[in-house]
Amino acid sequence: MKQFVLFPRLLAMVLGVSSLSLSSCAQQMYQPNQVLRDVEILAADSMGGRLPATEGHLKAQQYLLGRFKAIGLKPVGGSQYQHTFSFTGRTSKQPTNGVNLVGMIEGTSSKAIVITAHYDHVGTRNGQIFNGADDDASGIGAILAIATHFQKKKPKHTLIFVAFDAEEQGLSGSKAFVERLPVAKEQILLNVNLDMVSISAKNELYASGTHHYPWVKEHLQNLKVPEGFKLTFGHDRPEQGPDDWTFQSDHGSFHRAKIPFIYFGVEDHPHYHKESDEFKNIHQPFYLKAVETILAAVQTLDSKLPQ
Ligand SMILES: [Zn+2]
Repeated sequence: MKQFVLFPRLLAMVLGVSSLSLSSCAQQMYQPNQVLRDVEILAADSMGGRLPATEGHLKAQQYLLGRFKAIGLKPVGGSQYQHTFSFTGRTSKQPTNGVNLVGMIEGTSSKAIVITAHYDHVGTRNGQIFNGADDDASGIGAILAIATHFQKKKPKHTLIFVAFDAEEQGLSGSKAFVERLPVAKEQILLNVNLDMVSISAKNELYASGTHHYPWVKEHLQNLKVPEGFKLTFGHDRPEQGPDDWTFQSDHGSFHRAKIPFIYFGVEDHPHYHKESDEFKNIHQPFYLKAVETILAAVQTLDSKLPQ
């Protein structure tokens, strides 16, 4: 895949924002079209809703292996991107094999930031395919864009990218990952988890988890964001009950293992876990601004965290 360098002005045109607001940003080296294409492909009917151990799910896995390779990620803890585990999930009481996909970009420091999203979804129900475009093809598209950028503009920290399997089966992929970390736990400074980042009627993306890890907020609260876009904090206090997102996606497994996290996501919307969570229903301008903002957040964390 030919890579393009997106200069701030072109980027501003693509995002439909004034070039002024992005003029001070660094060059971003990924293609917005590729991000959208990744989401469209993963959320296609041919992927069958990506339920673990189904044909469609295997297709999604093969597609991602091709993308990891094309970007040039290095396998971690072995010669393969695939890290296999066994789980007993919500859908099946029989042990099922799951496959996390893990690749990295080495930095000058061995201290690592683990950037994650999940590629499984809930499959089909009553003959309807649940495509999971927002949940979580959008997160996968974004982490691939972040990987593409840092492959061209090397990070200080080692960046480990994980496409988790079986998130919808009780966070099984991330649980297996933290139980058998491919690098020493002491090397991992932070998990950056993305789950549902492409639909928001309010143009609002949450960075959640800073109640537990206030030092992350210090780095992100002054982040420049595109026009008409809001990055906000919250949904991470125990007293919020079901509105506390601390254990609602894969970052919960890191938090349980005492590895700090920051989670990027949107509030629940009418398409959440519905057959209408399709590519045509994601908010493309919002999504691209979210990708841009999360990339800027990772750039900031990479430059500010200890090495
Ligand atoms: Zn999800």
